[in-house]
Formats: sequence, structure tokens, C-alpha cells
Amino acid sequence: MGVPGRPTILVSNDDGVHATGLGVLAAALETVGDVYVVAPDRERSAVGHALTLHRPLRVEPLGERRFAINGTPSDCVNLGILGLLTARPDIVVAGVNAGSNLGDDVTYSGTVSAAMEGSLLGVPSVAVSLVEGKEPADFRAAAEAAVPIVHRMLRDRVLGITLLNVNVPPGRPRGVKMTRLGRRVYSDKVVAERDPRGKLYYWIGAGPPAWEGGEDTDFAAVHAGYVSVTPLHLDLTSYDGLRALKAWESEFEPMVTAVRRQRRRG
Ligand code: MN
Repeated sequence: MGVPGRPTILVSNDDGVHATGLGVLAAALETVGDVYVVAPDRERSAVGHALTLHRPLRVEPLGERRFAINGTPSDCVNLGILGLLTARPDIVVAGVNAGSNLGDDVTYSGTVSAAMEGSLLGVPSVAVSLVEGKEPADFRAAAEAAVPIVHRMLRDRVLGITLLNVNVPPGRPRGVKMTRLGRRVYSDKVVAERDPRGKLYYWIGAGPPAWEGGEDTDFAAVHAGYVSVTPLHLDLTSYDGLRALKAWESEFEPMVTAVRRQRRRG
């Protein structure tokens, strides 16, 4: 057990337990609390929120409070909170991911999904990603930028918000902006080529990422050199859509009546 009063922090990622971004994040968070690392045994980027339900999960202890799992990022957080940690974590921090997780892309991301899993289990969660730039990736700087945000989240929980998506720009950040998700412009082309045996193969997601949206988006913030913080929630309901669809209920009424009449006859 850790020092009383020190928060327990569960760290995971989708780049695998040996990724540089995870190592520097875990080290940086040691200044904040007692860090447990539970992460996939290999890279599992872009697996989204997948859970492993049809084969056993194995835990490989790599050191004190450090575990590799042969599963997805969501498996790691689930197993960490419900099985491996001796105490319930005060916060889940996922990352530092190699590459941005902006706008619509959050639905593909294993890093963001790890934080979603924490949030679903009632633990405040933060996903941290480092936007790719021209210079070599500085994960240490990204982890240092994330520490005060984790600190703030632990100190002063905003009611109802349990999930923050943090993207750190390359280079020295100019500050922090609170943002909304931008929209991805799907200019991706599918690449079709032949393999050495002459069989056709396809490669998706090959195009350069393009974005649209106003100045208040995550994409605009990192593009301008700011750390982007987007509060997310997992209620995917479209409330505008629901209001519009309410009118359909009465339209379906004759259909239901017809089915009942048919049954009576049969
Ligand atoms: Mn990744």
C-alpha cells in the first residue's frame, strides 16, 4: 500500500507496455501519486473500445505495480480496476500516445477508449496524446504538460465530467485551451496493390488527415500550438434527433394496429 492521502493512479495506453510515452508518463505521475501500470503486452493502437471476452487474459508482472496483459487497452483498465489493484484508483491516465487523437478519431483510439473504460467504471479518466510534428517526438514534455491537468482533475472534480481528452502539440505549448471535438474530413484513399504472390491487397487510412471546424475545436487549438483539453461523455444519444423522432411514434401506430388485427384473424 502507498502513503495515506496519496492518490492511486492507474496508467495504461494502446502503444504497449514498453512504449516510451507510457514510461515517461508513469514516471512524471510518480510526483502526483502511487502509480500502477497495467498495459497491453504489444501495440494495440486503433482497436477502439474492444474487450476480450472469448479467450483467457494473462497477466505478466514486470515489476512492482507494473503489469503486461495479452489484451486490449480496455481489458487492461477493466482488469486493473476490478481485479489487479489492491485499492480503487482515484484516476486513470492513458498515454502518452504516439500521435494525435482529435475529433472523430477518438472513436478508433485505444488510448481514448482506455480512459472511456475508466470513466464507465466511475473513475475520473484522462487520455493524453502527443501530436506528431516535424521534430522528434518529445514524450517527456507531453507528460509534463499532462501532470498539472491530472492534478487539477484530482483536486477539483467538475460535476458530471469524468473523461478528458488531452492532445499536446509538438514543441513548447503556448498554453491550454478548453475545446470541442473537430470534424474529420475524410479524404482518405484506399490503396490497392498486388503482393509479391500477385494477390490484390488493400490499405486503408492512407490519406493525410484533414479537419474542419471553428476556432474552438481541438484541432484548431493544437494547430495554434496550445494543449487541447476536451471533456467527453459516453451518452451518444442525439437529443435533437430524439425530439424529431418522437413524431414517428404516432406514425407507427397504424402499423401496430394492423399487426394486431392480422393476429386476431389468424
Ligand atoms: Mn497508439
